[in-house]
This record gives sequence, C-alpha cells and structure tokens, in this order.
Amino acid sequence: MTSCGLLHREGLHVGFVGSPLNRAEPLRRDSERLAGDPKARLLVLEDYHPVVESGALATRPMPDLPLDQLALIGLLDGAPLFAHIDPAASAARRTAELMTLLGALPPSEGSTYAAARSLLDWHARHRFCANCGNPTAPIKAGWARQCPACMAEHFPRTDPVVIMLAEHDDKVLVGRQAVFPPGRYSALAGFVEVGESVEEAVARELTEEAGVRATSVRYVVSQPWPFPSQLMLACIAPVADARITIDTAELEDAKWVTRAEVRAGLDQSEGAAFLPPPPYAIANSLFEAWLAGA
Ligand SMILES: [Zn+2]
Repeated sequence: MTSCGLLHREGLHVGFVGSPLNRAEPLRRDSERLAGDPKARLLVLEDYHPVVESGALATRPMPDLPLDQLALIGLLDGAPLFAHIDPAASAARRTAELMTLLGALPPSEGSTYAAARSLLDWHARHRFCANCGNPTAPIKAGWARQCPACMAEHFPRTDPVVIMLAEHDDKVLVGRQAVFPPGRYSALAGFVEVGESVEEAVARELTEEAGVRATSVRYVVSQPWPFPSQLMLACIAPVADARITIDTAELEDAKWVTRAEVRAGLDQSEGAAFLPPPPYAIANSLFEAWLAGA
C-alpha cells in the first residue's frame, strides 16, 4: 500500500488515488533547472487520453519547449515529470473510449494521470483573467496563472461534490439517471454549494433528489475525479423514514437495496438487482465500504 493509500480506509480500493508521485511543491520555483535534468521526462498524452506502455503511463525525453508551456507534475523516483501546457489546446472531453482506457489503467497510474489531466484541462479552460478579462499566462511551474494587467493570480479549481448512500433498516438508497447505461444504479450525488458544509450538502441533496431526511452524516472516503476537477466526498447518511419522492428532473428511478443485493451487484452476479458504477468510480468504493461496516 502506498503512503497515500494509508490515508484512506484500510483495504478499500479508491480509483485515482495512490500515485507514487512526489508533488514537490517547493521545487516548482526551480522548474527551469528540473526541466534540464537529464532524468526529466514528458508525460505522453493524446488528446488528453493516457498512453500506456508496459502497464505504465508513457513518457518521452524532454522536448524543446518554452518554460511557460511546461507543468511540473512532480517527481517520480526522483525524476522530474512534466506535461505540456499547449496554449492552443481545447478543453478536454470525456469520451466512451477514454472510460474504457481508464478501466485498464493500473490505479496508481490513474492517479498520476488524473493530476496531469485536471491541471492541463484547467489551463485550457482558464486562459483569461476572471478579474479583468485580459489573457493570463502560466506561472509556478504550471500550478497557477497570472494576469499581466491586474497581476491577479489564479489557481487550479477543485470543486467539492458529495456522493452519498442514504441508509435505512440495513438497506441503502440507489438511484439512476436517464443517461446511465441500462441496469446501472449509483449513490446520489451533487455539488457542494457556496456557504454550505459537507453535511448540509448531503442532507440537502438527499431531500431534493429523493425526499428523504438525513438524521446524521458520516464521512467515509474521498477521491479526486478529473472530469474536469471534482473532489468526491463519499458519505453515508441514516434517514428516519424510507418513503421516497423522486425529483424526476434529476433521477429516473431510485430504490432501496439490501446488503445481499449490493454484493450481487458488485460481483455482477447473474440476475443482480442493479449494476454499480465501474471500480474506478468512488460509488463502487462506497458500496464496498458500506458492506465492510463503514
Ligand atoms: Zn486581470
């Protein structure tokens, strides 16, 4: 288990977590020297898609690029790893092909990929100063942008999202959106709003989407989700009354499932009551955690 893994629940796999990367924040001031390090490598991405060689993310020798087009992702075994901030790149898209690739990516590599993808995508989406509207340029080895007109600094976004299982009578509530593949149900989820705590967001989302009222909220585990930049906060919330009222603008269906039904779903057993999200999605980890007593 990696040092990052130790920060999570023992024995629980969480996608996009556990990179061996040393983020090396103090070294970002020294990125010019690190870019010239003979051990330095550039992460190979094709339209934001990971390229895997021998079970690891592909890298190549450093190209000749201006320093403000290089993001220092971190140190891997002491070797600087950079990614190219392409000033002409469009924002990343999440394609079916990408999600298939992610399913085959080793978890620790998925974590390094997630950091690089979110950072590069942020640059593509935030070219202009939110304060005065002028074009901005990368600084701090790609971990911020600065406006040359008003000098405002802008930092990569992380948007908190709560994802939760309502719990009642040893069952949990799962829901499906109309866009889900056939048979898939997941935990309910929603963005944390400005001025709101995690617990308040969990309670509000459960009431809005399913009409159930949380009596308490317990935090379980978190995950960075790089599509584009969410921080998923997984929780379990007991509710006093199992009656549900679905917000049909958000959900197509919702239902209570037993421990045996969750187990059968995770195992993709014949005739399972529902199909859970793939293993790299935190909802899958949350189901496992609930079964393990979280
Ligand atoms: Zn500005």
